[in-house]
Amino acid sequence: MFSHVEPYAGDPILGLMDKHKQDPRADKVNLGVGVYFDNDGKLPVLNCVQKAEAQIANPPKPRPYLPMDGLPGYRAACQNLLFGKDAQVLKDKRVATTATIGGSGALKVGADFIHAWFPQAKCYVSDPTWANHIGIFEGSGFAVGKYPYYDAATNGIKFDELIAFLNTLQAHDVVLLHPCCHNPTGVDLTQAQWDQVLEVVKAKNLLAFMDIAYQGFGEDMDADVYAIRKAVDMGLLFFVSNSFSKNLSLYGERVGGLSVVCKDEAQAKAVQGQLQFNIRRIYSSPPSHGGHVVDIVMNDDALFNEWVQEVYVMRDRIKDMRQKLRDSLEAKLPGRSFEYITKQNGMFSYTGLTPEQVARIIKDFGIYMVANGRISVAGLNASNIDYVANAMAEVLK
Ligand code: PMP
Repeated sequence: MFSHVEPYAGDPILGLMDKHKQDPRADKVNLGVGVYFDNDGKLPVLNCVQKAEAQIANPPKPRPYLPMDGLPGYRAACQNLLFGKDAQVLKDKRVATTATIGGSGALKVGADFIHAWFPQAKCYVSDPTWANHIGIFEGSGFAVGKYPYYDAATNGIKFDELIAFLNTLQAHDVVLLHPCCHNPTGVDLTQAQWDQVLEVVKAKNLLAFMDIAYQGFGEDMDADVYAIRKAVDMGLLFFVSNSFSKNLSLYGERVGGLSVVCKDEAQAKAVQGQLQFNIRRIYSSPPSHGGHVVDIVMNDDALFNEWVQEVYVMRDRIKDMRQKLRDSLEAKLPGRSFEYITKQNGMFSYTGLTPEQVARIIKDFGIYMVANGRISVAGLNASNIDYVANAMAEVLK
């Protein structure tokens, strides 16, 4: 019956986690997966989340099915964070929003929707991007191409090439953009560059799909959504997928959202209905526990403020690790600049290590990172930073 089923090679990043787990070395380090660990190397359970969970547990909350598009308070939370609590676009009820199974689920529901209603559209992702962007859009039937983005020569962006490329695309082609904390490079567009990119998106009538999985980890909660709010100001109609996995440290609860900015309330209602239709046919309704946690934290002023501060603690620890790694590498390799490590945003740093150097650092030092040289800076802490800096300097010599 199943003899024709081909083996699955496995996901490269998740496979790396398995290898790290099996490594018997005591000083091994996991810089592979994009997960925030605290200074003790532990996955935090945020205080605001613990308080919300206490409310759910006492008295125990029954677990009926949630609506297809999630709890109303959850949807409002996504909208307020992304567009701003008092945004006119929300008052005008122009945004269709649904809860989704993580940011991944948002990408999937959005990709299915776009493929159904714009069957000719192609999808373009940054070169490089989070590999699952390609997987999810291909899985929804898209041909996926790449737009120029990272410039290894300067550790910056091939901005002129990017603009020239966008100008060659067809109306309704999907351009997948990272509003902040680009995964995997950590290199973001400046606000002035966003303005230019969005001008081309508007002029060519492209369909922007903004995927934000790290709000609060870049500059702050508002600056990180500059591109989203600017697109609204410019009158663009577009998609936003958001994830609470990282900023609420709720990875396994699968909490995300999909928002579509529409022309008017009637259009938003139609889009909302089609999103519900898609969800009904894929998984019916989203998970309850994470949904309630998000709803409680985001809609209680005290818990919300506590949450924002907890995100900034995570953000600042990552920035501190970036500075320490840079200082240490510059001390060990005089004459070489590692400024790019502190200029990058969010959880990831493209280190510039070649695949050979990555293979060596894994083999000789038990430091696990993705073959493209991406490290999750949040895997660094006071106990391992010197070890990692030494090893990096050794393979970079
Ligand atoms: N988009 C990007 C850019 C990501 O980095 C991630 C998570 N690695 C996701 C989406 C998916 O988020 P989630 O884990 O909530 O599905």
